[in-house]
Amino acid sequence: MSDVQNHDVDILIVGAGPSGLYAGYYAGFRGLKIAIADMLELPGGQITALYPEKKIFDVAGFPEVLGRDLVDRLVAQVEPFAPIWILGQRIEGLERSGERWSVQLSGGGRVTTTVVVITGGIGTFEPRALPVGREYEERGLIYYVPKPTELAGKNVVIVGGGDSAFDWAMALEPIANELTLVHRRETFRAHEHTIELVQNSRTKIITSAEVTAIYGEEQLTSVEVTLKSGSVEVIDAEVVVAALGFVAHLGPLAEWGLEMSKRTIIVDTAMRTNLPGVFAAGDITEYPGKVRLISVGFGEAAIAVNNAMTVIDPSKSVFPGHSSENT
Ligand SMILES: Cc1cc2nc3c(=O)[nH]c(=O)nc-3n(C[C@H](O)[C@H](O)[C@H](O)COP(=O)(O)OP(=O)(O)OC[C@H]3O[C@@H](n4cnc5c(N)ncnc54)[C@H](O)[C@@H]3O)c2cc1C
Repeated sequence: MSDVQNHDVDILIVGAGPSGLYAGYYAGFRGLKIAIADMLELPGGQITALYPEKKIFDVAGFPEVLGRDLVDRLVAQVEPFAPIWILGQRIEGLERSGERWSVQLSGGGRVTTTVVVITGGIGTFEPRALPVGREYEERGLIYYVPKPTELAGKNVVIVGGGDSAFDWAMALEPIANELTLVHRRETFRAHEHTIELVQNSRTKIITSAEVTAIYGEEQLTSVEVTLKSGSVEVIDAEVVVAALGFVAHLGPLAEWGLEMSKRTIIVDTAMRTNLPGVFAAGDITEYPGKVRLISVGFGEAAIAVNNAMTVIDPSKSVFPGHSSENT
């Protein structure tokens, strides 16, 4: 997955959530040179950032699918088309350059592209930081758990009392060495059934308490927890998962000259925006009757990319042909 470089592609997909990943598949199916960019270090958009451990029940063909498994399958579907991954970078600016677009990346590089498909969802996410210990980011302090198995056998402290905190507790409880959940209130904001399961597990729950310091030399080794009562406990830990939620910002998108309605981009039935060669799909689009769901984003991604194809090569048809005939 690439970092600070310049790229020249047919189609740049802004946002690697489910809509962007599926747009990547269709772009590959149409034989296009693709770049997929996302501010997050990992693909999957809201699913990866907010609910990777939740089951999803309304994706066609899957009676139920775990969030992370759906993302893995979407990545597997696009990978054969060798997209250029530009992860961990924000798309800052969009400038017209002749008949093409020149797109500024936060890392300093540029992408030159004929078409842009914006699948920016609800914008970029930033994790809510812990008040202490930011210097331990990448040395044990994390905000989401890409692969729970990597924390097997470790002492883990989860901070938070919402769905994410409890979902991580459920995922880590069977594999962590010691697992502690610290929450600053007495009550939780997670799904009742999950709370009950975690309360009845071996997870140690400390309420009315805050993480007040993180210690360690190279890596994080312990966490100081201060209770409202004033008593202090130091817990051995190699990993702290700060599950305090994410803040979504629309960010620079709002400055690109797109016709917008509040935090969404107005599109027509071909998913065209008001800018030439710029399409949009997924949660970020707005039109009468819009429904914000993964399955709807998939359909819009297919519409956007196949219509974009005719901008890239006017001799091509909107209809891609059937994938089943492409053996
Ligand atoms: C808790 C929860 C549960 C849900 N459950 C379901 C469910 O059961 N079924 C269902 O259908 N839907 C569900 N949803 C909604 C579903 O997750 C969204 O509809 C879906 O994620 C939208 O996909 P998307 O690709 O359009 O956008 P997103 O998933 O929001 O992805 C957009 C991506 O764009 C990136 N981005 C934005 N701007 C920039 C920029 N300038 N530069 C670089 N990157 C950028 C963001 O970082 C993000 O990764 C749920 C949502 C939540 C929060």
